[in-house]
Amino acid sequence: MTGQTFSPEFFIVVILLLIAFFLLRRSAKKYSIPKGKEVYDDLGSRGKILRSQKYGLTGKPDMIVRKGRKLIPYEYKSTDASVPREGHIFQMVTYFLILEDLYPEFTIKYGVLKYKNQAFRIDNIDENKRKLLDVVFEMRNSRFEPIRNHNNSGRCFRCSFKENCQQSLIRQHI
Ligand code: SF4
Repeated sequence: MTGQTFSPEFFIVVILLLIAFFLLRRSAKKYSIPKGKEVYDDLGSRGKILRSQKYGLTGKPDMIVRKGRKLIPYEYKSTDASVPREGHIFQMVTYFLILEDLYPEFTIKYGVLKYKNQAFRIDNIDENKRKLLDVVFEMRNSRFEPIRNHNNSGRCFRCSFKENCQQSLIRQHI
């Protein structure tokens, strides 16, 4: 009877795969990436723009992780923060609304907002969604306009309100 033998190359590949696996796990922990299957990525690759027709909102989360029937949006900010900033919370709330519209078969209970120094869990609560929709409604009806305090079209490109904002620098390209 002959036993199966493995070539040295086989062991090298296994070792490299194990190293890659542990490096990925360490990096996921460092960046507070939720456990689960990564189903969308705008960090390592270029994610497509997610668009909700129902709410007229667009967004590009840095990542979406799927855990069973749950989706968890993830956003990374390269600055420090001791509390989550309001604008970033509403960016996350925008993702909640978009994902609920696009994937009604999934539940979205929370998202993870990761700053350089720490991470926050942002719960998907009705109050925040109502506040955001009020702002969108007012913008759409042109009674309220944000005063643009920058000249950076990249910021407008990433902004969730660009489809409703009269001052967007890239409105004509949408
Ligand atoms: S689209 Fe541009 S100007 Fe309008 S709210 Fe967003 S970042 Fe500000």
